[in-house]
Amino acid sequence: MRTPPPSYSQLLQQIRHGEGPNRIKDLELSMAQRQVTVTYSDGRRVQVPVFSNDQVLLRTAQEARIPLSVRDDRQDEATASLVANGLLLLLLFGGLALLIRRSAQVANRAMGFGRSQARMVQPEAAVPVRFEDVAGINEAKEELQEVVTFLKEPERFTAVGAKIPKGVLLVGPPGTGKTLLAKAIAGEAGVPFFSMAASEFVELFVGVGASRVRDLFRRAKEKAPCIVFIDEIDAVGRQRGAGIGGGNDEREQTLNQLLTEMDGFAENSGVILLAATNRPDVLDAALMRPGRFDRRIHVDLPDRKGREAILAVHARSRPLDAAVSLGDWASRTPGFSGADLSNLLNEAAILTARRERATIDDQALTDALERITMGLSAAPLQDSAKKRLIAYHEIGHALLTTLLPAADRLDKVTLLPRAGGVGGFARTMPDEDVLDSGLISKAYLCARMVVAMGGRAAELVVFGPSEVTQGAQGDLELVSRIGREMVTRYGFSSLGPVALEADGAEVFLGRDWLRSEPHYSRETGNRIDAQVQQLARQALDQAVALLQPRRALMDELVTLLIETETIEGPAFSAIVERREAQELTAGAPAITA
Ligand code: ADP
Repeated sequence: MRTPPPSYSQLLQQIRHGEGPNRIKDLELSMAQRQVTVTYSDGRRVQVPVFSNDQVLLRTAQEARIPLSVRDDRQDEATASLVANGLLLLLLFGGLALLIRRSAQVANRAMGFGRSQARMVQPEAAVPVRFEDVAGINEAKEELQEVVTFLKEPERFTAVGAKIPKGVLLVGPPGTGKTLLAKAIAGEAGVPFFSMAASEFVELFVGVGASRVRDLFRRAKEKAPCIVFIDEIDAVGRQRGAGIGGGNDEREQTLNQLLTEMDGFAENSGVILLAATNRPDVLDAALMRPGRFDRRIHVDLPDRKGREAILAVHARSRPLDAAVSLGDWASRTPGFSGADLSNLLNEAAILTARRERATIDDQALTDALERITMGLSAAPLQDSAKKRLIAYHEIGHALLTTLLPAADRLDKVTLLPRAGGVGGFARTMPDEDVLDSGLISKAYLCARMVVAMGGRAAELVVFGPSEVTQGAQGDLELVSRIGREMVTRYGFSSLGPVALEADGAEVFLGRDWLRSEPHYSRETGNRIDAQVQQLARQALDQAVALLQPRRALMDELVTLLIETETIEGPAFSAIVERREAQELTAGAPAITA
């Protein structure tokens, strides 16, 4: 056990008369620390605080003849402070060096900001895409063929004084193959391909975009002839001066630089600028004038033949089952873009691999299509009241679309649920003519509204007004949207042939800031609402009127659907036709479109 150190007076006492274990052997005084280290005769050492310059202690020790040494700590102290100071200095210098390095890095980055990050693909071998890889958009391809000829044999054009467009604007929905076309031109002509998304020009700092544009064109001119492709040009090419607060300086400077560069390179210099957008309506007029993007090529969604050709292109690298007819699949995928079709085949290939089959068959394609359009499949529902209700709801849609001549064709109705809460669905196929022509008749829209109301109507007819469910929510939204478009845009209502709303206004948030009020009076607004309500009500009434007398047919179809989970369109129509023929002889109400 350690003995506690003696007090100051005890220490003096011990110095004078220390006996036994308390006899002191020697003392060591440390001036700087104002303490004395006492060593007893048995070897114990303790430290006792003393006064500075303690004369009493010195004298007592001298009288008692106890050796007392004085330790000079100042040396130690000096060394310690030297080390501490040195360390501090080192730290300071280290910090400073770090700071300088960091700021140099930032400066470096700032200097490099202006450099464009265009990805360049080197000539010939590196651009592997050819025109034969692009299918279904023949008009666009033919137009662009000329550009290839120019890049390959410019003399043919210059000899007769023809100027080749500097800029070609490809306009079309996403995934229709605009990038692919641009690459195909570079691939066919064997020239370098620079590509950049317009959004990559724009940075936080004003002026960076402009210097990137300069840099891109400088690099392109060095490599001429070449193709420069700017994707989503609308990101910088929007009308200047639009937007809250007069627009975005950085974007406008970038656009100005782009315009200047396009004017700056000489005719037939060999640099051809291709740009893609799906919003040509928002582009600045200055971009479109002759000498800039004076050629505008539409790349539309492919029609049935086009889809078949695109499927064929993508099927080249995949083993298809002999029974698969690409023509059928083209018919089953209206509204699909090239990218969607390529995705369909890819999904089917993934499913085939998962099932360890050697070739892609119809089943894999069917499952892939459903996965793309409806989402992942979930576990089938147990037999329950809920399943019956969903069955009636879906049969309501399916039956009406089969009964109404103006409505879409039924593709299939199924009770297999999908992830995301869809209990089942009745899928329809739009008419190819309607889709390709882009012309929609009033009868077609009315029929769509009736079909959409089919679910709610079936629930009403079978379960009564108090048992209807919110399952029709999506249908009601669709009906309201169609109704509103009919009234405010197509002039399909008693409000007369007036367009009360136009689309595309929202892109210029703020352009029409002061005019954001609707272009019609409050009274007209009320009438619009009333008309939409009336159209929706009519649709529901008509749906109920069609389903009510066919209760027995609905029961039969629901029983079949619960049994088999899925009924394909043709089988469904056959059942309906058979029953209708029987009823006709019994005098059921006639169908009105
Ligand atoms: P966009 O630039 O119009 O958005 P992309 O050119 O990037 O579309 O198309 C994406 C992918 O879709 C392409 O890489 C290609 O695989 C496929 N694709 C799109 N359109 C076609 C087409 N017309 N022919 C063949 N493949 C196409």
